[in-house]
Amino acid sequence: MADTIIFHVDVNSAFLSWEAAYRIETLGETEDIRSFPSVIGGNEKQRHGIVLAKSVPAKKFGVTTGEPLMSARKKCPGLKTYAPNFSLYVEKSNALISLLNRYAPVVEQFSIDEAFCDFTGTTGLYGPPAEFALKLKDMIREELGFTVNIGISSNKLLAKMASDFEKPDKVHTLFPNEIQEKMWPLPVSDLLYVGRSSIRTLHNLDIFTIGDLANADVAVLRQHLKKHGEDMWKSANGMDDALVRDTPPANKGYGNSITVGTDVTDRETAFTILLSLCETIGARLRADHAYISVVSVFVVDTAFHRSSHQITLPSSTDITEKIYEAACELFIRLWDGEPLRLLGVHTSRATSENFVQYDMFGSTEADKLSKLNLAIDQIRNRYGDEAVKRARFIDSEHTHMTGGLGKAKRDHNKPSSHAPLQD
Ligand SMILES: [Mg+2]
Repeated sequence: MADTIIFHVDVNSAFLSWEAAYRIETLGETEDIRSFPSVIGGNEKQRHGIVLAKSVPAKKFGVTTGEPLMSARKKCPGLKTYAPNFSLYVEKSNALISLLNRYAPVVEQFSIDEAFCDFTGTTGLYGPPAEFALKLKDMIREELGFTVNIGISSNKLLAKMASDFEKPDKVHTLFPNEIQEKMWPLPVSDLLYVGRSSIRTLHNLDIFTIGDLANADVAVLRQHLKKHGEDMWKSANGMDDALVRDTPPANKGYGNSITVGTDVTDRETAFTILLSLCETIGARLRADHAYISVVSVFVVDTAFHRSSHQITLPSSTDITEKIYEAACELFIRLWDGEPLRLLGVHTSRATSENFVQYDMFGSTEADKLSKLNLAIDQIRNRYGDEAVKRARFIDSEHTHMTGGLGKAKRDHNKPSSHAPLQD
């Protein structure tokens, strides 16, 4: 049997790169916002706006993802700020996934700017994986106008770790025989799914690098960190048996999740975050002319316990408000009051036809909301996402549309408000 070959494709500074590509290709601008200090961040007038993505020149001034715009401007007085445009990101993300689908037998979208591809058994067709990855990344740059990092390994965990090595526009391998040299010297906080509270515990155990963790006594880890301790030890040793799961395009689900920088401890904050997640899901559904009938909400608390609930709607929908209503109902049933680290909404059973059953009482309202949503999409497509926002988000520190984000790891370690962070 052929050796397993997994690619992890990760867009470099996704929101910023996508904005740059859009300005050059669609608006015909000649200057590239990637070539000077620039960031994507909340509305200029918003006091609480944070840096969602930064250019390489901005990074040189010490600007970091997740920091308040105000502090970024202090570090870099000439910093240019661009408002987020989530419908653009959805479009670019879709373009990336369809390009990958042209080459990879199996593609799993992991977040708005990341995907796993299973290239097992394709060496005869494409040549050695590392050489093909170079071609693939150049093809993405030339066809789509933005750069990616590609990490290659025999499992998802190591491929994802590898794509996080030196950026941008790079290919890295991290096969099991390279773990000791390439992964073990890194700080333990660089390991996927190692959160802030675990780091404290690990430091108390004199574990500072991934190598320290890999060589620690698993019984001791289990004693201090329960099952999560054992899981982290396995990761540090490069063990991961998760499969790349193909998402069939015709019947895919639409979901988003966000890791918050400050734990969520009250229902109102949770609802606001759920609404921003539903806004993006709704926009994606309508852009794809898809309708869903199953909504699920999942949460991860600070002890890394994950829980979820789902509900089947009486009729299929693409209306943000309907998805949000269901999400709130699910959240109330689900949440036990523990501080939350991650919130997510997933929708499924997508169809390309709207089989709304026009029930006697619901149809007029559904019609109205449907028209309202389409109007909002049109305004946002034309003038940007910031052009229309719900009253709930005015004067709120929360971004009103939240992009899908599965990348929990680095965000655990960063101070931020409840907004998606891109790298
Ligand atoms: Mg990225």
